[in-house]
This record gives sequence, structure tokens and C-alpha cells, in this order.
Amino acid sequence: MVMQIRKTADGYLLRFIRGEQIVAGLESFARANDIRAAEISAIGSVVDPELGFYDLSRKVYDWKTFSGSYEIASLSGNISWFQDGPIVHVHGVFAGPDLVAFAGHLKSGETAATCECVIRTFDEAIDRAFDEGTALNLWKLEA
Ligand code: ZN
Repeated sequence: MVMQIRKTADGYLLRFIRGEQIVAGLESFARANDIRAAEISAIGSVVDPELGFYDLSRKVYDWKTFSGSYEIASLSGNISWFQDGPIVHVHGVFAGPDLVAFAGHLKSGETAATCECVIRTFDEAIDRAFDEGTALNLWKLEA
């Protein structure tokens, strides 16, 4: 990892470097720091974001890659834990030169100029468990 990192009272500030994968970088950071529950908030810019829409009736994600560079108007999500690793779940709102927004579940994308992330950690782990109704690994907040 080459991102810049600062510890705060309740989490971290991260600045991703140009070319770094955002979601994979957050997963690596969470694993390296054993972050099992956190809130993520970020802005910046991204190249070639791949976004998904979950079709609940078919129980599959439909994926679409947007070629080029886009502003990250807002990225928000969380870090939880499933089995032996962190799950970074982030949704984002993006815009190109026309400033028209599009949004979705962010699967991948590399940092363009920067990506400034605020991570607020929580004391107790958020675990996920498979949910048959949705076919997704959802938060399991009760013991
Ligand atoms: Zn999602």
C-alpha cells in the first residue's frame, strides 16, 4: 500500500494515490489493521469505475464499467466481516464533465487525482451471514 494514512481518535484518514484501486485498497487496509466494523465516507476522483445494480428478482448483480475519469461526488459505505476477511461495501455517486450524476454499488475503480477517505471505526465487529431471501451476505447484528 502506498496510500497516506493518519490515525484519528475514532478511526483513520486515508488518501489514496493516483492509480490505486479504491475498494481493494480499503479491503487490504481493513485486513492489515483488523478493522471489523467501520463507516466509510469519501470524495475524490476515479478512473473506470465498475458499478453494480442488484436485481433482487434474479438475485444477481448487473455490472457496468464506465470508461474514463469521473468525480466521486460521494462515496459511502462500511466495513464488516464475513468468515475470515473484511467486506468493504461501498456505494457511490459519480459525475463526468457534463456533471450529470450516476450511482451504484462500487466494485472497482482506480484513483484518479485523489480519494480522500474518512473511516470511523466501531468497537464491536459487524459480522455478515448469508440471507436466503436475498441471496446476499447481510449484516448480522444480533448474537
Ligand atoms: Zn451494495
